[in-house]
Amino acid sequence: MFELFDCDEQGSATADITRASLVDTEDRLGIMLDAMPLGVLIHSQHAILYANAGACGLLGEDRNSLIGKHFLDFQGSDTGSPAFDEAFTALGRTTEQEMVIVMPRTGRERLMRVIMGRLPWKGLPVVQILLQDITDQKRAENSLRKLSITDELTGAYNRRHAFYEAGLYMERSKTAHFSVALIDVDHFKHVNDCYGHATGDEVLKAFTEIGHRFLATSNLDSAIFARIGGEEFLILAPDRDRAQTVQLADNFRQKLADHVMMTAKGPLCVTASIGVAERMAGDASFDNILQRADEALYEAKETGRNKVVSAG
Ligand code: GH3
Ligand code: MG
Ligand code: MG
Repeated sequence: MFELFDCDEQGSATADITRASLVDTEDRLGIMLDAMPLGVLIHSQHAILYANAGACGLLGEDRNSLIGKHFLDFQGSDTGSPAFDEAFTALGRTTEQEMVIVMPRTGRERLMRVIMGRLPWKGLPVVQILLQDITDQKRAENSLRKLSITDELTGAYNRRHAFYEAGLYMERSKTAHFSVALIDVDHFKHVNDCYGHATGDEVLKAFTEIGHRFLATSNLDSAIFARIGGEEFLILAPDRDRAQTVQLADNFRQKLADHVMMTAKGPLCVTASIGVAERMAGDASFDNILQRADEALYEAKETGRNKVVSAG
C-alpha cells in the first residue's frame, strides 16, 4: 500500500511517519476496529490507506482491493467531494453528510451517514472516514412520516398535515395568493344508510382518487388534497386567487358529478358542495380563511348543493 505515497526525499520522510502510524493502527487497534459495527477508512488525499472489516462489508470489497481506491469512487450521486476536501483542511472538526454509496461489484445502492475528520497525525494529511448504513433507518423514518401525514382510510393527506402546510403558506409573503376550497360530500349519510358503512368507505376512497387525479392533471403540483373530517375534504391552492380557485373547484365538482363509482354494491354517483375563500390582508391565522370557506360551503348546502360558492 505504501507505494501510494508519491515521494521526493522529504516526502518520503513524511510518508514514513504516516506509514508508522498506520502500522501502529493495524497492529494495535485493528482487532478492535474490525469488531466495530461501523465502517472505518483512513484516507490520504489520493487513496484509501486502511479499511476495517465494517468498511469492507459496506463497500462490498475485500481489504486488498479497497486499499488504493478512492472513497469518492463509491459515491452514487454528486454529494461527496466538497465535504471530502473540507475534511483535509479542518483539523479538530468533523463533517457529516448523507451519501448514496454504490457497491461496484453488485451495483447495490445504500444510503450512508459519512463522518469525516482529519486525524492529528504527523506526516501526510489523512482523514478518518466513518460509515454507517442508514438505508433501513431512513426507510423506516420515511414510512413513519408518511403514516403521520396520511389519512388511513383514503390515503389523502390528513387534517394535521393540511393545517401544518396551511400554516406555512400563511407565513409566506403577504402578497402571494393563497386560496382554499372546502369540500363536503352531499347527503353522504344517505350512502351509509342505504348501502352500508363499507360502501361509504369505498365512496370516500374513490372520491380521494378523483381528487388526486384531478390535481395531477390540473397543473397544481404544490396543491394539497386532504381529508379533514368524515366526508369533508380540503384543497389548499397556493398561488391561486379566489376566482381561479372557484373555477378549479367547479371543474372538480363537475368531474365528480360525472363520475360513476363502481362499488361492491353497484355503480354509485355522488356530488359535493364547495366553499372557496382566499387569504385577505387582515387574516391573522388560517382559521380566518377556513371560517369564510365554511360559511360559503354552508350557503352552497342551503341553496341546493352540488355547487361552488365563493366567500365574498
Ligand atoms: P350534507 O349534504 O348536509 O353534507 O349531509 P351529509 O349526510 O353528507 O352530512 P352528515 O353530517 O349528516 O353526515 C355525514 C356522515 O358521514 C355521518 C357519518 O356517519 C359519516 N361518516 C363520517 N366518517 C365516515 C367514514 O369514515 N366512513 C363512512 N362510511 N362514513 C363516515
Ligand atoms: Mg359534513
Ligand atoms: Mg356531507
